[in-house]
Amino acid sequence: MNRKVIIIGSGPAGLTAATYTARANLKPIVFEGMQPGGQLTITTDVENYPGFPEGIMGPELMDRFRAQAQRFGAECVMKQVTKVDFSERPYQVWVGDTLYTGEAVIISTGASAKTMGLDSEMELMGYGVSACATCDGFFYRDKKVLVVGGGDSAMEEATFLTKFASEVWLVHRRDEFRASKIMAKKALENPKIHVHWNSVIDRILGTRETGVTGAILKDTKNGSTREEICDGIFLAIGHRPNTDLFKEYIDLDSKGYIQTLEGRSLTNIPGVFACGDAQDHIYRQAITAAGSGCMAAIDAERFLESHD
Ligand code: NAP
Repeated sequence: MNRKVIIIGSGPAGLTAATYTARANLKPIVFEGMQPGGQLTITTDVENYPGFPEGIMGPELMDRFRAQAQRFGAECVMKQVTKVDFSERPYQVWVGDTLYTGEAVIISTGASAKTMGLDSEMELMGYGVSACATCDGFFYRDKKVLVVGGGDSAMEEATFLTKFASEVWLVHRRDEFRASKIMAKKALENPKIHVHWNSVIDRILGTRETGVTGAILKDTKNGSTREEICDGIFLAIGHRPNTDLFKEYIDLDSKGYIQTLEGRSLTNIPGVFACGDAQDHIYRQAITAAGSGCMAAIDAERFLESHD
């Protein structure tokens, strides 16, 4: 199945690339991956996407992105790419045993939530430890929860959790937030939100039978530890780019982000382009991802024009 353009990933970047390449008559196929629509499908209100002055729910925004791409003929398939071979054109992309080939490939695989690296965290993931307040917040009605992190995600998750939980404690390793002023202010002004400054989680307490019952917090200044009782722990400590699949062929930086030519979507392999959170470690916004998806589509179109 040879295609002019294969798009891997279906967040704002991939679906914008799909709209543009479809409108350029390149009949793209989009492999949507395990989370069709990407990270915005597990968020709630998106208040900063231009064109929606009242805000819009993340899943609805992504449904609209998809519908717009499909309107121009993009084929979106709910499948996960398992292997690629970019050693020669047309480039090879496998979904299990099925081989697809593409004259050009656009990578828009996004990023996934980071974990703290504790054994107890992995053991209790899904049993009181979560990386998605939107998905699991509902289970914490009138409970006490901790949210780890000091960035915009932590503020957003903590604020969202106050809809259910009786108390939300941010656990932050420093004495000031990384989050934007406006989001930090909103969180700090919420009477249900409190902060454990200069603190990290050393160990999570509980079992799969009991769920999370508490955590041992460690003071990052003096190393002392204390026990904190809680019912749930939400991780909001950033993300890791989903680029393992490509590392044999594509140049990545030390954190795994795809390296692109400055200000462009070109990777080290001609005809393979990257956009969105898989290559952007600076802005990581829906709007910048969408913009970079548009750039990748235009770059792919120009590449195909000059090569075929
Ligand atoms: P982030 O900005 O990288 O913040 C991660 C936070 O987690 C930081 O406070 C960091 O502490 C802490 N952290 C990292 N590793 C840790 C560890 N192992 N243990 C304890 N704490 C750890 O990530 P983010 O909050 O997910 O935001 C990512 C991007 O998305 C940002 O550009 C943000 O603006 C954007 N975003 C925007 C919105 C919005 O506008 N609505 C919502 C969510 C996210 P340090 O501060 O000490 O490094």
